Amino acid sequence: MRIHFEPQLRAARGKLVSGGKPGLPVHAGSFIRERKIILDSELLVHAPELMRILTHELFHFVWRRLDNATRQSWDALARGQLGWPGELGWSAEWRKQSLKSADSASGTRRWREYLCESFCDSAAWYFSGRQRHPEYTLPTKLRRGRRQWFARLLLERKLPL
Ligand SMILES: [Zn+2]
Repeated sequence: MRIHFEPQLRAARGKLVSGGKPGLPVHAGSFIRERKIILDSELLVHAPELMRILTHELFHFVWRRLDNATRQSWDALARGQLGWPGELGWSAEWRKQSLKSADSASGTRRWREYLCESFCDSAAWYFSGRQRHPEYTLPTKLRRGRRQWFARLLLERKLPL
């Protein structure tokens, strides 16, 4: 797998670009088939944030290769926590906020994207070992469920990359 750093990353029309004005600033992007991660070079001077973002991106690769039973188990956990606001990263948070009840009921693309981002954000939170970050808004009692879920996953040594 290759990891690149580029300045001023932005997401513009579904593409990751470096520099320029259009689109929204982003920290990183992953290209699963090319096995490539691009990170914003500004992260190089923020080690803890770099690790959080890099872990999130690495878990995009893990999610892609998880077996169905494990994914379904994450789906069940996330479904059980839908009634509460908050997440463990902005990427999952904005997707959670834009979910409609039909999304989880019929497993729409929006729901699947939320599942993937909440998995990656939760992994980054779990492995960071940090309790505080402005983007950690999930209530403490719900964090416990996610911590146990990841602890079990590691116990079963199921981390396909
Ligand atoms: Zn992501």
